[in-house]
Amino acid sequence: MTPPPTSTRSRAGRTLSLVIPMHNEAAGLDLLFQRIDAAAAPLGVTLEIVCVDDGSRDDTYARLVARAAGDPRLRLVALTRNFGKEAALTAGIEAATGDMVVPLDADLQDPPELIGEFISLWEQGYDVVYGVRADRASDTPMKRFSAGAFYRLFNRLSDYPIPESTGDFRLMDRAVVTALARLPERNRFMKGLFAWVGFRQVGVPYVRPARAAGATSWRYFGLIRFAVDGLTAFTTVPLKVWTGVGVLAAFLALGFAAVIVTQVLVGGRSVPGYASLMVVILFGFALQMIALGVLGEYIGRMYQEVKGRPIYLVRERVGFDDT
Ligand code: UDP
Ligand code: MG
Repeated sequence: MTPPPTSTRSRAGRTLSLVIPMHNEAAGLDLLFQRIDAAAAPLGVTLEIVCVDDGSRDDTYARLVARAAGDPRLRLVALTRNFGKEAALTAGIEAATGDMVVPLDADLQDPPELIGEFISLWEQGYDVVYGVRADRASDTPMKRFSAGAFYRLFNRLSDYPIPESTGDFRLMDRAVVTALARLPERNRFMKGLFAWVGFRQVGVPYVRPARAAGATSWRYFGLIRFAVDGLTAFTTVPLKVWTGVGVLAAFLALGFAAVIVTQVLVGGRSVPGYASLMVVILFGFALQMIALGVLGEYIGRMYQEVKGRPIYLVRERVGFDDT
């Protein structure tokens, strides 16, 4: 954490953009906007609410359009299909025009009431104010365990550690948003990108409640893929470790060779050795397969990046000045 900066920033006359990615969130929309209205009223900033419909199959889109007709603060970016939360978030952040940008989950797991404190810290000069989950009681033990293991592994391997128990819930200064927009990669591992850009950052602990309505769209395999995406995007250690493994295996092989040669010299020539031969061959083969698999993970992602397809496609924009 960086030392507190000095600043003369003021919220007066500034615009705050809330960016809300939504995938099948119709059930919780009314409650979401109620909570936002109540939380935003005392903030003393102009509010912009950018909702991204990430290919919802329920009536999220229709209800947002209806709402936008009577609410000039609301802007809607509808994607052409479900691109996933990270892409939806990127779409929303790129569409946001505010001096401060706060991504928010539609299920109210990121309490909008915290934003007042975020803005106060922004006024003190912090460019990024992120929420830190004080406890993960709302997660299953399995999710808590795997999340903890992931953060430890990630921070050990990556040069840009991500603060543990943080999500996308944070306030970003416009300068940070501009910096993020300059990162060209298609694989949007936002937590990692947030850490990579630097700036003066500070955490605010909060208790993360359970989902207010609807159901999560995440599947367990999705989380595993997400974790591998994050790791491969921010560390090449899994690629390089094979040099070390290879050198080690070579030394082990030399040692084993010495043992066998000595045995032959001392005990004379003998045929047995089938078991040790199989073990060495199978073990070496397995190592090579693993190394090839790791190469595949990276090459596959390089292929995605090289194709240079857009991160998301927009079907419709509602409520923007240019539409
Ligand atoms: N989300 C999205 N696209 C997806 C999956 C999720 O835009 O493909 C949105 C979802 O509507 C919600 C946020 O991302 O606003 C977080 O999703 P969720 O609550 O399901 O995830 P969790 O809280 O378990 O991380
Ligand atoms: Mg959630």
